[in-house]
Amino acid sequence: MKLIESSFKLHSRRKFIYDLGIASIGISTLSLFSGFKSHDEDSSKERIRKEKASGKLGIALVGLGSYAGGQLAPALSETSNCFLAGIVTGTPEKAETWKTKYGIPASNIYDYKNFDQIKNNPDIDIVYVVLPNSMHAEYVIRAAQAGKHVICEKPMAITVDDCDKMIAACKKADRILGVGYRLHYDPYHLEMMRLGQQKIHGNIKSMSAGFAFNAHKGQWRLDKAMAGGGPLMDLGIYCVQAFCYVTGQTPLSVTAKEGPKTDPERFATVEQSLTWQFEMPGGIKAEGFSSYADSRNTLKVEAERGAYELTPAFNYGGIRGKGPDGNLSFPAVNQQALQMDDFALSLIRKRPVRLPGEMGKRDVAYLQAIYQAMRSGQKVMLK
Ligand code: NAD
Repeated sequence: MKLIESSFKLHSRRKFIYDLGIASIGISTLSLFSGFKSHDEDSSKERIRKEKASGKLGIALVGLGSYAGGQLAPALSETSNCFLAGIVTGTPEKAETWKTKYGIPASNIYDYKNFDQIKNNPDIDIVYVVLPNSMHAEYVIRAAQAGKHVICEKPMAITVDDCDKMIAACKKADRILGVGYRLHYDPYHLEMMRLGQQKIHGNIKSMSAGFAFNAHKGQWRLDKAMAGGGPLMDLGIYCVQAFCYVTGQTPLSVTAKEGPKTDPERFATVEQSLTWQFEMPGGIKAEGFSSYADSRNTLKVEAERGAYELTPAFNYGGIRGKGPDGNLSFPAVNQQALQMDDFALSLIRKRPVRLPGEMGKRDVAYLQAIYQAMRSGQKVMLK
């Protein structure tokens, strides 16, 4: 069985580059042979049999939207410790397309009603929930009850109470829950963690991060019941994460202010934009910005002996960075492939996952506190 160790310890950059080197050999070899050819039922069953026999863990994607289709499924043709074994979709046409495109046998295709029968399917070890935010809790809980380990997309849920229920369900079923925080596997973000946590340019004085794009009308992201909130839930969470992993600390308090609604019809139930300020240990001020009617994609750090930043910061690829000593330069990686491989390897090696449900819950609590500060106009204490 060939496993790729995705070790991303901050003190071991050489090993990290070495791992990436091995991973990229795996990537090119696999894509040569697995390409996106059309599969029939027999070849699909044979594919699954071979993948399982190689020791990889089978993943079922739940919700075949833009992230599952555009990023996760292609990434699963580049993974070494896991593979695309099944799908869960409410749209029969999507099931048909995915079946032939990715080689998924009919027995590994579920809809939202018969989803719980996945418990009888030994091909599937991990369920990856990629649904709108408000649906994460139900499907994580049902997956755990079906005896599957679970990866849940960000934000983990729309309330802390839901996060508690998800964690409890996984614990009760003795299953592992992880969150899809892909940037923990990107070398530029790992470098920001190293610079910040090891104080390479001195103590951090202040930080800022902004993530914004234009969200078109009519999608679940603009519906508070489905999304749990507006751009903060979807984009601001990247800034919250970055403030924590660059400093290696968690915030002490928060103040926040909603931006003006220039398009009240589109933003009828959620904020259009939001600015917040965390006070971090050591007097660090961290200012975040998220919007669905703007364009922003940066992470900036001011330290005692110079500044470092990523712009664009939060993309799937093409991140660019610079520091006091010049531009940062790292090889391109597939963040999602590394993220899923590391989760699978943690299960195989029976070691703790890097991005557990508890971290997802922590961040949902910060998002809720930011909203509380925004609504009240008061500082909200976090510890
Ligand atoms: P999307 O709208 O493209 O896909 C959502 C999927 O859920 C669709 O296949 C849709 O058919 C299905 N669905 C099932 N029931 C639904 C319902 N009642 N209403 C709406 N859709 C329903 O969304 P997406 O961009 O793929 O996002 C899905 C999740 O992934 C979200 O939680 C999002 O935050 C997360 N995401 C993460 C990243 C990342 O980089 N980690 C990137 C994009 C999205």
